[in-house]
Amino acid sequence: MLRLNGIETRYGEIVALRNVSLEIREGEIVALLGMNGAGKSTTLKTISGLIRPKTGTIEFMGQPIDHIAPEEIVRRGLVHVPEGRKIFPGLTVRENLILGATGRKVPMHIVNQDIEEITQIFPDLIPLMDRLGWSLSGGQQQMCAIGRGLMAKPKLLLLDEPSLGLAPVIVQNMFQAIKQINQSGTTVLLVEQNARQSLAISHRGYVLEAGRIVANDDASKLLDEIKNAYLGAH
Ligand code: ATP
Repeated sequence: MLRLNGIETRYGEIVALRNVSLEIREGEIVALLGMNGAGKSTTLKTISGLIRPKTGTIEFMGQPIDHIAPEEIVRRGLVHVPEGRKIFPGLTVRENLILGATGRKVPMHIVNQDIEEITQIFPDLIPLMDRLGWSLSGGQQQMCAIGRGLMAKPKLLLLDEPSLGLAPVIVQNMFQAIKQINQSGTTVLLVEQNARQSLAISHRGYVLEAGRIVANDDASKLLDEIKNAYLGAH
């Protein structure tokens, strides 16, 4: 479904990604792991067209996307939910969700049906529909941000650190919701620092270190490798 081949991305002289190649198959959850500054967010921004790679190619659904506009990439079904829950603070939850559907140009009754579907994944949003974005807790904002991404009906959803800054019990719910999103037919690329919990719901994973892919494997094998590398024998 998605294939990155030999991607190098720079910020001026700084090389953020070096020869990154990865693949995501339809139906998978793939975790992209790494420490702060490893290049995880840059990988997502490069895929969604927010930054252009200097070298390498990106294919989505068999078509090159490394030279097309970010809005067109969204229309093709590839949606990026950035780090930091960037919802509109002065709009209600419902308005934020509606905005996510704008590019699809569908009638309001369809939009309302889609909002209904999102509340099945995130029932906590039901009583919050008329609340303004700024007044939500971190976890509620994250649900709203992912919900807004889902309103674009993605084939592939890129999630940047959805568990960041959330209380442990909310983190659990968030990972369960991501699993449910995947089970209802959306392929997911999940950027996380939380290796253990993200690999628990993922099929496969990649590890980035200083802009390079240093490991990739099935989720359970990768978790063992990470435990051995960082924690010694377990
Ligand atoms: P984090 O979890 O902190 O977001 P990350 O793995 O997502 O980490 P990136 O944000 O992709 O890492 O950053 C990769 C490298 O690129 C880092 O060295 C970072 O300092 C650098 N970098 C990121 N954004 C910029 C920018 N706008 N200008 C210059 N350098 C940047």
